[in-house]
Amino acid sequence: CANYLHIDVMDGHFVPNISLGGCVYKGLKGTVALVFDVHLMISDPRKYAIDFIKAGSDILTFHYEALNNEDEIFELIDFIHSHNVLAGISIKPGTNVEVLDKYLKYVDLVLVMSVEPGFGGQKFMPNALDKIKYLKDEKQKNNYKYEIEVDGGINLETAKQCVNAGVEVLVAGTYIYNSDNKEKLIKELQSLWFIN
Ligand code: ZN
Repeated sequence: CANYLHIDVMDGHFVPNISLGGCVYKGLKGTVALVFDVHLMISDPRKYAIDFIKAGSDILTFHYEALNNEDEIFELIDFIHSHNVLAGISIKPGTNVEVLDKYLKYVDLVLVMSVEPGFGGQKFMPNALDKIKYLKDEKQKNNYKYEIEVDGGINLETAKQCVNAGVEVLVAGTYIYNSDNKEKLIKELQSLWFIN
């Protein structure tokens, strides 16, 4: 399976933390065989999308909650696609998954947040599993193309639950960074898709 480099971008508004701008990973582009999976946790994704496209995003994901209406959401999906970048949409733990129904046909990735975005090391919120199951059912029923990704509180146990629910991409930042044997851990996580 492909290895994704998940890059969290925070602006200090949409979430209280501030983290890297596009210039940081632009330098990596072409030097590593990774899919640049950029997660914009910012209040104005439309304004900054172009910067992150230029910085080399392969997948650019914005938050449903950051935009005001469906016109803005469709426009941003089209804008990202017009630059030959894959478009993802994400929801926070408190957001109902059905709000995404009308966009599912058009996006390449749906990112379910299983913690409140903005801080590492939080506990996994189990309502993410129902959202993942829902997205998997919709995908199968309608032949949609999006990948289902989960972000927040992932360890071997919660990863298993997410894979069983139908997740296809796991974001496991803190869990992997804190491990002494990162390679072994990544292999263990990847093997979850083949055990079941
Ligand atoms: Zn993220």
